[in-house]
Amino acid sequence: MPADVFTPEASFTIDELEVRFPPRDLPAGARVTRFGPSPTGSMHIGGLYTSLVSRRVAHQSGGVFYLRIEDTDKKREVEGTVELILASLATYGLSPDEGEVADGKEVGAYGPYRQSERKPIYQSCVRWLLEQGHAYPCFASAEELQALRDAQAKHKVPPGYWGTWAIWRDKTAADVDAALAAGRPFVIRLRSTGGRDARVTLPDTIRESIEFPANQTDVVLLKADGMPTYHLAHVVDDHFMRTTDVVRGNEWLASYPMHAEMFKLFGWAPPRFAHISPIEKNDGASRRKLSKRSDPEASVGWYMEAGYPKQAVIEYLLNLIDGRFEDWRGANPAVSNEDFVIELERMNRAGALFDLAKLDSVSRDVVGAMSAGAIFDAALSWASEHAADFATRFGADSAYSQAILDIERRGERPRKDIVKWSDLPADIGYFFEDSYAALVPEAQAALAAIQPAPPEGMLAAIAAGYDPALTRDEWLEWLRALGLSYGYAANVKAFKAAPDEFRGHFGDLAGALRVVLAARRNTPDLYEVMQVLGKDRVVERLSAAAGW
Ligand code: GLU
Repeated sequence: MPADVFTPEASFTIDELEVRFPPRDLPAGARVTRFGPSPTGSMHIGGLYTSLVSRRVAHQSGGVFYLRIEDTDKKREVEGTVELILASLATYGLSPDEGEVADGKEVGAYGPYRQSERKPIYQSCVRWLLEQGHAYPCFASAEELQALRDAQAKHKVPPGYWGTWAIWRDKTAADVDAALAAGRPFVIRLRSTGGRDARVTLPDTIRESIEFPANQTDVVLLKADGMPTYHLAHVVDDHFMRTTDVVRGNEWLASYPMHAEMFKLFGWAPPRFAHISPIEKNDGASRRKLSKRSDPEASVGWYMEAGYPKQAVIEYLLNLIDGRFEDWRGANPAVSNEDFVIELERMNRAGALFDLAKLDSVSRDVVGAMSAGAIFDAALSWASEHAADFATRFGADSAYSQAILDIERRGERPRKDIVKWSDLPADIGYFFEDSYAALVPEAQAALAAIQPAPPEGMLAAIAAGYDPALTRDEWLEWLRALGLSYGYAANVKAFKAAPDEFRGHFGDLAGALRVVLAARRNTPDLYEVMQVLGKDRVVERLSAAAGW
């Protein structure tokens, strides 16, 4: 039976493929890594994590990081996912050097980089395996396979298509011809060489070496539609794309012996493997994998929507990758995080523990170190996509918006209250007329609830006397004196010394001012807030409040 009946799209010999995809011309020690997502609808934070590790490891060694779209399962494919993957990688500065870089546009000499377009390559390799007797066609129906599983369960033997349970493994050519003539669908399976009790020891960059039972399953290589399974595609692609380091999830550890067997049968040197543990989170008393279904933060889109600065997400992931990152960052506050060296060998074997509070704290530090201009640009670009109303307000007068962001930012200890861009509409909304107008009922209620109530005339007096040209000390002196004339002690100490003599103290007065000017009791430094609001807004808001 000529192999081509089973591999109609095979069009190369293995030698031709070796020539077409030659070993890469890279410096010694350069690593070639890849990200191989299946486009099934979303981009998981684990994908970003793996890409970050892979890309840094490649770049730190002068190598290449490429993107391979693993779209061999057309039933599970969701349209738009490739765009989402590309956008996610680009957003976080993790775009590949090679592969699909934009819609339908590929760069690199080892493509095509979509597995669905590599059928002739896979089939060529399978044709060779068939010729060598390392693979065979299997016409077993779904019912036959089910019957097999039932019988295995009954006999208490490991499930799967192996050994004597592999019913098409030793069929005669006549049986195969008859099945073909009857038009029965078929798959191509590996003829495994592993014995029932054989064991293999395989290297892993993160775990050193691991002993496994050898593979004995005659795994499917080509499916009925002529597409490869992950197992075949991985081996063929990582060989012909000249991957040096496969960094993948540890859910593939179980099939690692199978992949190792295939590399051996092809006569190819396997790449190094690093099986990384999934990101986990605490759930009550136990730990579990971050799940797309129950954890919104499992999806990269969530970080984009929340507007975490990209550097915060990356630095947070670096913390998860290597616990030493935090100390390194502390010692090198101004250096690009690209200078932090990632070593696969040092990665944690146990799953990294995800912690949103930690992400927030990393983000506060990152935003704290950004200039008002950089925050403005990043926040505006977030808002344009995710908060159109706010974008209009915030983008209208960039000098004003940057002045708002600059409050308490220039001193020795710049403020660190901004975590993510989606906090801004609520946090600084009061600076803008229209969103302040919407807050007035809240401000009125808060003012009415304030104890001690500001006395008649005081807000109007502050409005009348406010002079933005005053320095902070002059302003403080003026406001304290004015407060005193309305019964507010200059400070808590003075108030406590003679509580009966005063209505309240300066803090109470400032609280009332905050409620009126910002519709909230906590604001950054009041002097700066008033400076940025400017005389007109301050006077207008205080005068209006005098009449509430
Ligand atoms: N497409 C596979 C996955 O999404 C890739 C695994 C690998 O990196 O080899 O799990």
